[in-house]
Amino acid sequence: MSREFGFLAQVNDAFDQAAAHTELEPGLLSQIRACNSVYRLTFPLKRDDGSIQVIEAWRAEHSQHKLPTKGGIRFSTGVTEDEVMALAALMTFKCSVVDVPFGGAKGGIRIDRRDYSANELERITRRYTYELIKKRFIGPGIDVPAPDYGTGPAEMAWIVDTYKSMSNGEQNPEACVTGKPIEQEGIRGRLDATGRGVFYGVREVCNSAEEMRPLGLEPGLTGKRVVVQGLGNVGYHAARHLADGGAVLVGIAEFEGAIANPDGLDLEAVVRHREETGSILGFPGATDLARNIDALELDCEILIPAALENQITGENAPRIRAKVIGEAANGPTTAEADAILLERGVRVLPDLYLNAGGVTVSYFEWLKNLSHVRFGRMEKRFDEAAHRSLLREIGRATGVNVEASDLPDLGADEEDLVHSGLEETMIVALHQIQDVEAGMGIRDLRTASFVTAIKKIAVSYQELGIFP
Ligand code: NAD
Repeated sequence: MSREFGFLAQVNDAFDQAAAHTELEPGLLSQIRACNSVYRLTFPLKRDDGSIQVIEAWRAEHSQHKLPTKGGIRFSTGVTEDEVMALAALMTFKCSVVDVPFGGAKGGIRIDRRDYSANELERITRRYTYELIKKRFIGPGIDVPAPDYGTGPAEMAWIVDTYKSMSNGEQNPEACVTGKPIEQEGIRGRLDATGRGVFYGVREVCNSAEEMRPLGLEPGLTGKRVVVQGLGNVGYHAARHLADGGAVLVGIAEFEGAIANPDGLDLEAVVRHREETGSILGFPGATDLARNIDALELDCEILIPAALENQITGENAPRIRAKVIGEAANGPTTAEADAILLERGVRVLPDLYLNAGGVTVSYFEWLKNLSHVRFGRMEKRFDEAAHRSLLREIGRATGVNVEASDLPDLGADEEDLVHSGLEETMIVALHQIQDVEAGMGIRDLRTASFVTAIKKIAVSYQELGIFP
């Protein structure tokens, strides 16, 4: 029977499969699964040419079991209520998997950003924020957006500025949104956090002999061939870190097409080529593929879908040659494809774990905004001095003198701490879900991630005394 259905139904299907492994009361499971609130709005945009266009937008808050709720804002023509609710649900389970104390939310505006000037995008973003404020769908303790597909630091700066201008003396208005530019109270390390988290997760799996053995692969990332779909924020940074970590980038798909080179592609050269020509196609030494979707079927060990949902389907899953699929995008694999890949022994690292690096560092940014102090400010010089005196003592005791000035930074600054916190989070979360998978006889990491998340959320409700 075909199991291709809408995105929300697919998320709910994955939830139901996982819920069957728990012994939780059905009423409690229904509450954890339900999307608590959805705000659908329209507002007029006065275009630069004077015409008026009605813009459609949504914000869904899936679960308030922890506050604030958290989730990105997407600009895409594919935005629907179904999609926003599915993405909000994924956020709830994602936060739970990586122990980020937020409920899930998501926002979407149905536009293609390439059709609008910067001024128009600013007007759309500010008006959307204003509408969210009016309905109390945004605020440091209520609901905190972040970047997603089609948005980035510039949109987050407009959101925080609009919010601040209306906050009327509120204490921490900067914490109303994350992914802001550094100068607007953002945090170092947020821009590449999702891609970096993807790298940490993929590297950890590839370094595991136990994980690699059933795939017929040697442990280690070095030399493994990678194909990346989508060279945006997540895809570009994931590709960069994977290549820096020793993997070989053999295929890239973008909106306009796809390119392949089994000997490896120089990522920065591809980016420069795209900036100069407007396309990745025609990159020297690479082969152009007929359709961008064909890149998913290239011969490689690791496939990173980092664009949008429903890319690996029942139709192309039998032809996927990768042994590991790292879901950098949300929902890139349909339920039917998932079942096929499982039968074929392909290891899928699911979105609700693998792309959680973004929300993890967003959490760090929110904490920074609430504390009004940069991470590392208090301890950097103290740590440096302590390490120097330790080196001096070791030198005195052993006669081997190490010049502290020859060593790189001896104290951690904000970026070092963010990277370290992210790495720790991704590795600990992976081991947790691997343990659940092994301990409960589950056959895949998606179900194990959902089970892990559902059990943690259940505890929050049970502590309220409402549910058994
Ligand atoms: P982005 O807008 O920065 O980049 C997406 C890229 O994909 C764009 O360059 C676009 O041209 C390309 N693309 C679109 N359709 C394509 C296709 N059919 N084939 C190949 N390329 C295509 O968006 P992003 O922030 O990188 O988000 C990508 C995915 O990652 C989304 O699913 C998003 O929900 C998810 N995600 C993002 C974050 C984040 O921090 N930005 C966090 C978690 C998950």
